[in-house]
Amino acid sequence: MITAPDCVFCKIVAGELPAEVLGRSDAAIAFRDLNPQAPFHALVVPFDHHENAAASAAADPASLGHVVALADEVAQAAGNADYRLVLNTGAGAGQTVFHTHVHVLAGSTGMTEAL
Ligand code: 5GP
Ligand code: ZN
Repeated sequence: MITAPDCVFCKIVAGELPAEVLGRSDAAIAFRDLNPQAPFHALVVPFDHHENAAASAAADPASLGHVVALADEVAQAAGNADYRLVLNTGAGAGQTVFHTHVHVLAGSTGMTEAL
């Protein structure tokens, strides 16, 4: 597994930091966002540390497929047939944690809502 020191999501993957885990696969983990921006707000994080989705895609294209599959699983399990997936890339787009993660947002509508 690829890890980075002092990465909060690597620590959650390793079980070194607590999180409300909603599901996991052999390649990714899903947990509730600490600061929810929608009635349902989960994060899905591939185990391997890369700084954003494009870097994950370049290093391991299948990893993003695993992330989307787990995102669908946890959204459906929480009763959300419809949901949005958001991938912030770069500080200017609001990225604050530089380990690839997909936001899974449900329970509200509107692409213009702030994240
Ligand atoms: P970004 O802004 O990088 O796309 O999203 C990072 C997200 O991670 C934010 O929504 C923030 O609330 C969440 N977050 C940051 N640190 C933690 C943490 O330690 N635990 C959990 N569950 N969420 C976190
Ligand atoms: Zn990491």
